[in-house]
Order: sequence, then C-alpha cells, then structure tokens
Amino acid sequence: MSTDIEPQEHTELRAAVAALGRRHGPGFDRAALWAEAGKLGYLGVNLPEEYGGGGGGIAELSLVLEEAGAAGAPLLMMVVSPAICGTVIARFGTEEQKRAWLPGLADGSKTMAFGITEPDAGSNSHRITTTATRTEDGWVLNGRKVFVSGVDIADATLIVGRTSDARTGNLKPCLFIVPRDAPGFDRRHIEMELAADEKQFELTIDDVHLPADALVGDEDAGLLQLFAGLNPERIMTAAFAIGMGRHALERAVTYAKERQVWKAPIGSHQAIAHPLAQAHIELELARLMMQKAARLYDAGDDVGAGEAANMAKYAAAEACVKAVDTAVHTLGGNGLTREFGLARLVTAARVARIAPVSREMILNYVSSHTLGLPKSY
Ligand SMILES: Cc1cc2nc3c(=O)[nH]c(=O)nc-3n(C[C@H](O)[C@H](O)[C@H](O)COP(=O)(O)OP(=O)(O)OC[C@H]3O[C@@H](n4cnc5c(N)ncnc54)[C@H](O)[C@@H]3O)c2cc1C
Repeated sequence: MSTDIEPQEHTELRAAVAALGRRHGPGFDRAALWAEAGKLGYLGVNLPEEYGGGGGGIAELSLVLEEAGAAGAPLLMMVVSPAICGTVIARFGTEEQKRAWLPGLADGSKTMAFGITEPDAGSNSHRITTTATRTEDGWVLNGRKVFVSGVDIADATLIVGRTSDARTGNLKPCLFIVPRDAPGFDRRHIEMELAADEKQFELTIDDVHLPADALVGDEDAGLLQLFAGLNPERIMTAAFAIGMGRHALERAVTYAKERQVWKAPIGSHQAIAHPLAQAHIELELARLMMQKAARLYDAGDDVGAGEAANMAKYAAAEACVKAVDTAVHTLGGNGLTREFGLARLVTAARVARIAPVSREMILNYVSSHTLGLPKSY
C-alpha cells in the first residue's frame, strides 16, 4: 500500500511495526507481542515523553495498530489502554495519576480496560445509570456494564459513571479508575463467536468503594473529558478494521495469483480481480479519512476530529467487512477452512461495524450534525 502522504518517520515506524507483526504473525501469542511492542515503545507512541511515552499522537498510535493488524497480529487492547485511558489520564489526570499509570501504559507493563456500555442503555449512552456517590473519603460506585473487553488482563478498568449534581439533581458523566480486584467489582465472561484472545465481560459493580483519587479529571467537565477519549477510540477502531482488511486482502491476492483451475490464475478473471481492486480502493480511502481524523485530533480540534473520526470508523468498518467477504470468496472452499484463517475474520470484521458506536449511530450523527436533518429519536 502506498503511504506517500506520510512523513518519513511514519513510513519508518510502519516498516518497523510490520516487521514485528510478521515475526509474530497469525496465530500469535497476544501477551508476548504486547510485551515486545511495549518494550519497543510502540504501545505508548501517543503518550507524553515525560511519562515514558513517545511524544507523538493518535496518528502514530493508529499506524502501529494498523500495521500489526495487517500482519495478522492485531492488538485490540490498544484501542482502549493507551488510546482512551492513556489519553484521558494524560489530558485530565492529576500528577499522581499520570505518574501511577502512564509509564506502565506506555511500556505495556500495565493495561487499562474501558467500560461505558450498559445492558439497558446500549447505544444510548445518555441512559447509563452506573452511579457514584460521595463518601467521607472517596466514592462508592454501583451499576452494571456489558461487553467490556479485556477486564481479566487489565490492571484496572476506566468506568464511565455518573455523579449527581447537588444543585440540579442531574446526573453528570464521570470517569473512575476501578482496580481489577476491588471488592464488589465482579465480572462474568460472555462467550462470543470471535476467534480473538481478548475476552468480553459483563460487570456487576456492587457498592465498590473507591478512594477520592479514583476520579479522573474534573467532576463538572465529564462530557468533554469523555469525548477526549472517544475520538481516539473511533480512530483506533478504524485502524483495527483497516489492518484486518489489508491482512485478508493480501492473503486473497496471493492466492488469486497462484491458484489456477483453467488456463490462467483465477486472479486473471475480472470477477475475482475487480472485487479485490475495489476492496483495496475502499481500504485506502478509509485510511485517508482516518489520517485526517488523527491529524485533526492531534492538532487539538476535538470537534472537527469528532466528525472525521465517525466517518473514518464508518468507512473502515464497511471496507473491512467487504474486504474479508471478498477474500473468503476468492479462496473458494479454502476460504472457509481453519488452515487459511479467513473464515474466522468474518465475525471479527463485524465488530468494527457495531462497536464502539454502530454504523447506524454514525449515520444518525452525519444526518443530523453534518447535514442538519431532523432527528427521529
Ligand atoms: C467485541 C466487542 C467488544 C466490545 N468492547 C467494549 C468495551 O471494551 N467497552 C465497552 O464499554 N463496550 C464495548 N463493546 C460494546 C459496544 O460498544 C456496543 O455493543 C455498541 O455500542 C452497541 O451497543 P449495543 O450492543 O447495546 O446495541 P444496541 O444499542 O442495542 O443497538 C442494536 C442495533 O440497533 C441499532 N440502533 C440503536 N439505536 C438506533 C437509532 N437511534 N437509529 C438507528 N439504529 C439504531 C444499532 O445500530 C444496532 O444495529 C464491545 C462490543 C463488542 C461486540
């Protein structure tokens, strides 16, 4: 894939991560790759240098995830640990929180999960009811979360809760760091039809007592802080999808060049070649939008980045689903074998269409915010 519009350092970083990804490759040991990528500084490229990070931005972090995925070794927890949690702590955390978390998130020795989704709220995050109540020396948290990734391997989970405004009684969104083994913080593994190493959990948060410094950022600026983390999440999901799409496409192209059942390789038939070419074009276009979103975000334009991040996530998910579907079909029966490893991507590709924000919610956003159309919900 041509990467000419990128600065030289990005091209070099791509090459280095691609080499690492290829060394681990499909069937990789997630923990081993995570540790090595952390040691090499790739997991914390976006975090501030004074806390052990690389001093770059989401442009660099998304590139790392894309290349690992393109090599068949995606690291899902990058979407949450350095991208959401690292960003939110770096931007809004106290000095103590930064010292406690950022060096570990940057070198991969610490991981943080992120929990916003609730069973009764789903896409409507205004309906979340996980509530934090002040105590004499901190907080007590109660609520439920669902589909939270990697809680078992994360040292803590950044939980989106709400505190009630003493003046108005309204519930305001707030972010809390909840240690994995906090009493009352229970998890149930949800069996998914996904061939991924990272697991999803339903969480029961039952009178979890937290110290005062579990709150990240300002109690009154919760929404702004939350969005500071959600834009990187969307950009990183786009990177995850583009990486997976590229991986599937590369395998299909290799196969189409070699497999011959008439007088020429199957890749010479336009019915095979054109869908592969389309998939390539759509992945490239999605990547351009992802780069735009990352650039806006890194330049501090949270509003502009919000629209671009949504569009990038949409485009990348659609391009990924199509690339995987095309790849499976290109391999004929082999597309469905375990050996060739493509069928397992069919469900994995769908994740980017649903999470962290569904295709329909992005279309709603673009209809109402960008195009000014009236809202139906
Ligand atoms: C593999 C995986 C990992 C995940 N990891 C995490 C995680 O780490 N942390 C976390 O907090 N969450 C996580 N999630 C949850 C994910 O963010 C949610 O699944 C997603 O936000 C959708 O919510 P829902 O599943 O409740 O769907 P629902 O909100 O119930 O939506 C169901 C369907 O209805 C559609 N719909 C809903 N409202 C509208 C509307 N107004 N207009 C049109 N259509 C609408 C949706 O687009 C969707 O197709 C993960 C999910 C998956 C699958």
